[in-house]
Amino acid sequence: MELLKNYIGGKWLDSREAAFSSVVNPATQEILGRVPVGPGTSTDVDEAVKAAQVAFKEWSQIPVMQRVQPLYKLKQLIEDNLDDLANTITLECGKTKVESLGELQRAIENIEAACATPLLIQSEFSENIARGVDEFMIRQPLGVCACIAPFNFPGMIPFWFLPYAIACGNTFVLKPSEKVPLTMMKVFSLIEKIGLPAGVVSLVHGGKETVDALLDHPDIKAISFVGSTAIAKYVYSRGAANGKRVQAQGGAKNPVVILPDADLEVTSKVIADSVYGCAGQRCLAASTIISVGDEKGEIKDALYETAKQRTTGFGLLPDVEMGPVISRESKKRIESLIQQGIQEGGQVLLDGRNTQISGFEKGNFLRPTILENIPLNGELIKTEIFGPVMTLLSMKTVEDALAFINGNRYGNMACIFTTSGASARKFRSEANAGNIGVNIGVAAPMAQFPFSGWNESFFGDLHGQGRHAIEFFTQTKIVIERWPKEWSRKF
Ligand code: NAD
Repeated sequence: MELLKNYIGGKWLDSREAAFSSVVNPATQEILGRVPVGPGTSTDVDEAVKAAQVAFKEWSQIPVMQRVQPLYKLKQLIEDNLDDLANTITLECGKTKVESLGELQRAIENIEAACATPLLIQSEFSENIARGVDEFMIRQPLGVCACIAPFNFPGMIPFWFLPYAIACGNTFVLKPSEKVPLTMMKVFSLIEKIGLPAGVVSLVHGGKETVDALLDHPDIKAISFVGSTAIAKYVYSRGAANGKRVQAQGGAKNPVVILPDADLEVTSKVIADSVYGCAGQRCLAASTIISVGDEKGEIKDALYETAKQRTTGFGLLPDVEMGPVISRESKKRIESLIQQGIQEGGQVLLDGRNTQISGFEKGNFLRPTILENIPLNGELIKTEIFGPVMTLLSMKTVEDALAFINGNRYGNMACIFTTSGASARKFRSEANAGNIGVNIGVAAPMAQFPFSGWNESFFGDLHGQGRHAIEFFTQTKIVIERWPKEWSRKF
């Protein structure tokens, strides 16, 4: 069984930790590798940071146009190895091959956006702010930056940060989720070939102890975190208490409003893709669906029919539309949340529990589930399920829906489906969320825009991707200069 190595200072090294946990294929329970997890990984972190600090001295001085050249090579290598990378994502994470290819496309787009760093990093200059005095701003890199990633997008999320960080002149330490470390092992075997100096990027495996070592390390200047809200809050507080710049993206419970004038065929299909895509394990998965003015139950019927037709199975098989959830514990948790919804007074319109897939009997499969009539004062309505479960609510007006949405503790995404421009405009202006979809089910910002979560979906100021990434990974320096004429020799 493969014991995963770290990539530190340009070399593949064994971890200093002796304990390992298993990386498991969620469709079969087959063990795919063994990943170091434990306190010994803090020594790995220290070694990676030392290598990154040494590399920073030279890397930060290399002109930005040259710093982006390896990124062009990386884009090409990822494209050349797309199939292998997508298979790895599906094997360790469970999502379908199409979904794996989709997230790799988003990774590539972030590399492309980061290649614009020479332009994005340009700054401002004011001549003559006082007589004979000029003032300007320059952006300089921070030093060693670190990223802590979640399990649900093993191939994409590190790329919300890594290409921007290094293009800005920083060096970078990545800790992937211990549940899905294999994709980044493959990506780093490509990174090895793009001509980056040793120590510019490192890969360190581990779990909580590794995260704590990153948060406490005095020589790490910035932390980019993506994961659940409880851990995001923890990472934000501990990192900030240690004087670091932190951006921490958290969990979500995304509401979607359907008005009676929406195109039902398109709407039900797009919403099914959002709720059940990646088996509901997306921070931008639609979760609470609010039908407005659906007296005849037409919206409900359309949502039920599309959900029922979704095929569940092993993600590498053709025609499968939904894979397993990440772990047995996760499946159990989702099933117990469905039960909790029933206990709180909800009804199951479609029950995806107790799913068995022929040939994959050990897999963590659930089929699409729809719960309705969940009470608004219960716990489930506030809880992120992170599985293929739709909670269906019915309300009388858009104002009722907005009042409900704006009481949400999260704020990652809110969507509306309608053919009324005025209703859409009101919604996008008044909904309390950082990413808004209008007739869109997964309002995932493209690489050139920030991934803009609000409330308990994000802790910090500058988000991942685009211009925000350039600002996050640089510090501004203001220079005010006076060069009096009388000090100069006349030529
Ligand atoms: P998680 O919070 O369990 O883990 C994320 C990272 O934190 C992992 O690298 C893990 O090793 C580490 N970690 C876990 N427990 C820790 C602890 N006690 N102390 C320190 N570090 C710890 O999240 P997950 O289950 O991997 O991912 C799913 C969650 O991520 C969902 O809540 C989802 O909504 C969220 N997510 C958010 C976004 C976003 O953009 N807002 C994107 C993707 C996923």
